[in-house]
Amino acid sequence: MHNIVILTGAGISAESGLRTFRADDGLWEEHRVEDVATPEAFARDPALVQRFYDARREQIRAARPNPAHEALARLDREWDGELLIVTQNIDDLHERAGAVRMLHMHGEALSAWCTACDARHGWTGTLGDAPACPSCAAEGDLRPDIVWFGEMPYRMEEIFAALGRADLFVSIGTSGAVYPAAGFVQEAAAHGSRTLELNLERSQGSHLFEETRLGSASELVPRWVDEVLSAQP
Ligand code: NAD
Repeated sequence: MHNIVILTGAGISAESGLRTFRADDGLWEEHRVEDVATPEAFARDPALVQRFYDARREQIRAARPNPAHEALARLDREWDGELLIVTQNIDDLHERAGAVRMLHMHGEALSAWCTACDARHGWTGTLGDAPACPSCAAEGDLRPDIVWFGEMPYRMEEIFAALGRADLFVSIGTSGAVYPAAGFVQEAAAHGSRTLELNLERSQGSHLFEETRLGSASELVPRWVDEVLSAQP
């Protein structure tokens, strides 16, 4: 085994205090997803959407990586083979734990995208007050650099190339409800990869994995990383 691809979802950040999104009520922080996470919602009520992400940004800055993020960062440091952590999360907890070989397929809460000049800027403050773009000075054209429902996820070519080379695909803390990420397990398996799911409960796509381990990410992930590193040739 040489190449590992890991997909993470909101469940890996739950124990850092960031709420997941398809909780039983289907709401994300008291909002319907259609009201805050689609381009239509942004066109209809930009102030509401900006306030929502301003609040997410503040929460993320106050959160800390948990043992699951830390274990994946250790794997990234110590694994000699190829590794790619693909996160659906918009928080920066993987990076803050020290992971480097990773990408955000659904964008980042701590990044702002100027729709006037297309520049992206690291952003820790608010966007609801229509700040000027640091590149082109346009006011009110910065939006959260987030892939909303109906938009194309980032870096898909790179992800599918890695899935095509994977010997092991591991999905952590994701409900398997959001495509295209939910289809990665089939893509990896079709190329001969082993597949493992680590989640609190069985996800919608559980039956597609060779193995599922149930439990909290902060317990399962460090244990799995120890296992993989101790078997490293
Ligand atoms: P989801 O909310 O749909 O599913 C979360 C999954 O994590 C569930 O299957 C749940 O059983 C599991 N889970 C909950 N607590 C866990 C724990 N302690 N340990 C292990 N597993 C646990 O999340 P998703 O599949 O990532 O869904 C999609 C979208 O939600 C993404 O596009 C993402 O951008 C957005 N989102 C991101 C964040 C974040 O960045 N932290 C938070 C909420 C939602």
